[in-house]
Amino acid sequence: TIENAGWNLENTYASLPEKFYAKLKPSSVKAPQMIVFNNQLAQDLGLDDRQLSCTGADYFAGNRLPKNVVPLAQAYAGHQFGYFTMLGDGRAILIGEQTAPEGTKWDIQLKGAGRTPYSRGGDGRATLGPMLREYIISEAMHALGIETTRSLAVVSTGEEVMREKLLPGAILTRIASSHLRVGTFQFAAHWGGVTDLTVLADYTINRHFPEVLQDNNPYLSMLKEVVKRQASLIAKWQLTGFVHGVMNTDNMTICGETIDYGPCAFIDRYDIDTVFSSIDRQGRYSFGNQPSIAKWNLIRLAETLLPLLSKDEKKSKELAEEAVEEFNKHYYQSYMSGMRKKLGLFNLEGGDKDLINNLLDILEYSKADYTNTFRALTIGNLEDIADLKNKEFDYWLKLWRARIANQCQSKDESQKIMEKNNPSIIPRNHKVEEALKAAVEHQDFRLTKKLISALSSPFDYQLSLDEYTKPYSGKEPYRTFCG
Ligand code: AMP
Ligand code: MG
Ligand code: MG
Repeated sequence: TIENAGWNLENTYASLPEKFYAKLKPSSVKAPQMIVFNNQLAQDLGLDDRQLSCTGADYFAGNRLPKNVVPLAQAYAGHQFGYFTMLGDGRAILIGEQTAPEGTKWDIQLKGAGRTPYSRGGDGRATLGPMLREYIISEAMHALGIETTRSLAVVSTGEEVMREKLLPGAILTRIASSHLRVGTFQFAAHWGGVTDLTVLADYTINRHFPEVLQDNNPYLSMLKEVVKRQASLIAKWQLTGFVHGVMNTDNMTICGETIDYGPCAFIDRYDIDTVFSSIDRQGRYSFGNQPSIAKWNLIRLAETLLPLLSKDEKKSKELAEEAVEEFNKHYYQSYMSGMRKKLGLFNLEGGDKDLINNLLDILEYSKADYTNTFRALTIGNLEDIADLKNKEFDYWLKLWRARIANQCQSKDESQKIMEKNNPSIIPRNHKVEEALKAAVEHQDFRLTKKLISALSSPFDYQLSLDEYTKPYSGKEPYRTFCG
């Protein structure tokens, strides 16, 4: 039966002190309807995907709850565009943590599930376009090999939501290793005492970093581990051309997964000043700023942990600084090793840094498409990249080809590693918009489903997916909005 659709839920978060959450149920909606459902992810979670995809809309709308769960909204704070404030799940409700057959725990959260004590002026709801957008892009990120929260389902609610106009309402089921954020620690440090902070840090270690319990300073080890995971994550964003758009501290997870797909988008041409978000007027979260903003956010995390790092205040600060400084090293290593793979290079050589930077410079001033350039280098059809017909690029190609020829590994091996690291397709902004328009304006979900399916194998060079490889060609710069 649907009651036994594989639910295997706990609510360990509810064991934290009460100030960390508000227990409440989702507010029910008029007429839930399943729009997209992620069968593979459901299976991975141990859920009965066939049953839930056909008759589970009530669960994913919050109208019906699995047995014995304690749904709650999480409290957190955060620096939004640099300004510190109290936040919390204003429209999301955590149903519980599902233990998958392979043993890991996953948060199941309904986004758009109604008002909570943290809603402030908001209506607690979400609209169909942005929820489908999060589904499409988060699943694309996963397929690209970038750590991310996942999307299990989008249901429409049968209700309208007032934004700039009336729009169809929807709820996204988000799956995450956890929803612990830098902002959760900021909340504990600012509105709790050292005991609260300790309880939160212990909970986090238990859930994500049990291996550090043996270290002589587990809290320091935890901080270092978060720094490492974030450095690796941001390197992957930069390597793929992903612009998050709203890297507030409440939108940075402790587990190292990308979270909060609001105004994000992928770059077409390589330009470090790229900003898509209409609200990011200063370019704080531009493509090129992402690594330094991540580090800024990690300093905010480190500050919250000072009381736990050492009894000696001065020593605490030294340890914290040292831990966050490791970001640069980790980031650089991840980025360079990723770039070498994108260029089919197996080992590290002295001139690699120049080779990489020269290519990026050429891409920047020739306004060439980032993804398609690496795609063309991979399959060897550089004729397709009109913007690269210049002597600087020709000279670069000579150097690169010589570098490849000098490796012990064969050209075929180089090409293989390039195919694994250069996506053939990414979620092109205009293709995402086109699919969402059909969904929202005509309740036609075919393009959305086709796009989701295409993006599930971005490294498959055998598929001919030409319609997804063309860059956005609109006259106006592409703009995104927070959903
Ligand atoms: P974000 O910029 O997406 O990270 O959201 C910032 C904060 O605004 C979070 O606390 C959200 O829960 C809250 N929020 C966003 N939209 C709504 C809404 N429609 N109703 C209530 N809270 C919201
Ligand atoms: Mg957020
Ligand atoms: Mg958001």
